Amino acid sequence: MNDSFIVLGGGIVGLSCALELRLRGGDVTLLESGVCGGQASGAAAGMLAPYSENPESPDEFFHLCRESLGLYPEWQRRVREMSDKDFEYTECGSLYAAYHEADLLALEGRLDWQRQHGSSGKILRGAELFKAEPGLSSSVVAALWTPEESHVYAPDFVEALKTACLKAGVVIRERLGAVEPVEWEQGIEVWSAEYGIEVRLTESGSDMQSADHSGEVPSVKSGHGVFRADRLVVCTGAWAGGLSDLLGLRLPVQPIRGQICAYEWREERTPVKHMVFCSQGYLVQKTNGTLVCGASEDVAGFDTSVTERGISRLLRWNKRLLPALEQAEPFHRWAGLRPATLDGRPLIGRLERAERVIFAVGHYRNGILLSPVTAKLVADCAEGRSPQPWQQAFRPERFGMPAASLR
Ligand SMILES: Cc1cc2nc3c(=O)[nH]c(=O)nc-3n(C[C@H](O)[C@H](O)[C@H](O)COP(=O)(O)OP(=O)(O)OC[C@H]3O[C@@H](n4cnc5c(N)ncnc54)[C@H](O)[C@@H]3O)c2cc1C
Repeated sequence: MNDSFIVLGGGIVGLSCALELRLRGGDVTLLESGVCGGQASGAAAGMLAPYSENPESPDEFFHLCRESLGLYPEWQRRVREMSDKDFEYTECGSLYAAYHEADLLALEGRLDWQRQHGSSGKILRGAELFKAEPGLSSSVVAALWTPEESHVYAPDFVEALKTACLKAGVVIRERLGAVEPVEWEQGIEVWSAEYGIEVRLTESGSDMQSADHSGEVPSVKSGHGVFRADRLVVCTGAWAGGLSDLLGLRLPVQPIRGQICAYEWREERTPVKHMVFCSQGYLVQKTNGTLVCGASEDVAGFDTSVTERGISRLLRWNKRLLPALEQAEPFHRWAGLRPATLDGRPLIGRLERAERVIFAVGHYRNGILLSPVTAKLVADCAEGRSPQPWQQAFRPERFGMPAASLR
């Protein structure tokens, strides 16, 4: 692939797409308004848990998640080797806890379909359950064990991805300030092969140089310079909805705040060996001695502050699940903005009406998990491969046009 790319957004999705495109021969520049990993990707618990996160039944979204989990061992190994940076990747499996006998039927239903889709899990009860996870509260009556699930330490993994990108030759420009595409200079025709894409950006406080650009290729402009490329890959997470007017597309992506906290655990014996889920949230033990407990879900616009209400709810059920936390206080509390879409599925793929624009946004609760498969699909479509029929479920244009454009 000889094309050049502008990747907009340096979260895990943008960095993964940039790396994969570069590895396939693309000339890649990544533009980030803040710092890479400074938003949702750096806030995440890092669980790679397609089964626990899809409790109802297997659909296209589950299959996407499952495929991405399958890519992780090789993907993380590659990132580790290329970056020469260490990060936690732990294949510890998970437990989904139930407190009531009445919940067992639902757990069995889940086990049933999960076993048909690659899980070798089973339901643990009584002595078997407490042998597997001795710290659990005795009010847990059973748990669904899924050995295939794993987790990464997201902040370190994102840092390693960034280093891998740089070493591979991706140009990364951070701290660009308010990077706002404000107009398509020549309307819809701009998207033709002849002119490609033109996105004008306003920028504050950076010394961006003009890139060397020749003729009829897409460009991203700022107050101080112009970036040009053959294609634009939009990876702006919860901010993607801002492109709606510019593209004349309905992009129902909105931020859902997740509040989360961590306990410091200095004792030799870790409080949990698996990732432990219940209907209210999850606990994940990290090798750096922190026990991460998440996460709330609320709508607060782009506000990433932590509220007493959000965290106290977490603390209540943490203690109910793990009595060892009764006297403990979290040492760290933070929040991030999950990019949620109207139907809960990401937007991945090329725009039909603007072939040089590729979308990779809206990964909601599973962007860490979904990053390798997203990078693969984006690079496949950049190489001109036609999407498989099942990918229709993630078509960026599936929500149609904004009401104003329909007049
Ligand atoms: C508390 C919490 C826990 C989570 N736990 C998990 C988990 O365990 N497992 C999991 O898989 N997922 C988890 N998630 C979800 C996951 O974090 C997200 O789905 C994922 O990080 C989304 O990645 P992204 O790159 O799309 O978005 P982001 O990480 O938000 O990155 C988008 C980037 O784009 C930049 N940007 C925005 N607009 C522009 C522009 N115009 N130009 C340039 N740059 C721009 C932003 O500054 C930002 O850096 C969690 C999320 C939260 C909040």
